[in-house]
Amino acid sequence: MSGNQRWQQAGRLEVFEHHDPAEQEGAGQGPDFERLQGAVGEILSVVDDPGRPDLAETPDRVARMLLELTRQQPFELTCFDNSAGYDQMIVEDGIAFYSLCEHHLVPFFGTARVAYVPREKIVGLSKLARTVDHFARGLQTQERITNAVADLLMERLSPYGVGVQLHAEHLCMSMRGVRKPGARTLTTALRGVFKDGPTREEFLH
Ligand code: ZN
Repeated sequence: MSGNQRWQQAGRLEVFEHHDPAEQEGAGQGPDFERLQGAVGEILSVVDDPGRPDLAETPDRVARMLLELTRQQPFELTCFDNSAGYDQMIVEDGIAFYSLCEHHLVPFFGTARVAYVPREKIVGLSKLARTVDHFARGLQTQERITNAVADLLMERLSPYGVGVQLHAEHLCMSMRGVRKPGARTLTTALRGVFKDGPTREEFLH
């Protein structure tokens, strides 16, 4: 089997299907870990001298890191009754996130702004950041994370609407290819009352 085939095989690891936190504790062992280790070793044998002593621990470290970055953590989106009858926009801004581009396996990262107008349920502010973190795990696109955050909040909170904006730098654009360091990509998902009218204006400006 060529290195490339093995890497492709490793790339198809069931990284999205493993959600068991107990299993994640042992990310330094098991068949998935070993397959990843082997795949990273194959990459090193092509891009560098795999016998170089400084690289001896690299397959181990990279395998551990990839398992950590690609396994979504289960989390509870705790909701409360909107007993105060709050009916204006709730915004959490400047949520830092880090993800891996599914096309190049290099990071993209930036900040997220998440807002909603509650109906009967509200959610702890930290949970908005957790929601972004949750979907940033794995091999992703910025568009998919943006939509997934908006859709989950619509589903769980049944609010009047949700707005999500992600502002990110993609290293696959900064380090290579078109080489535009500092170029940022902006994605927006608008649901319910955020789609138009004053709520849209308030959120976007
Ligand atoms: Zn990319």
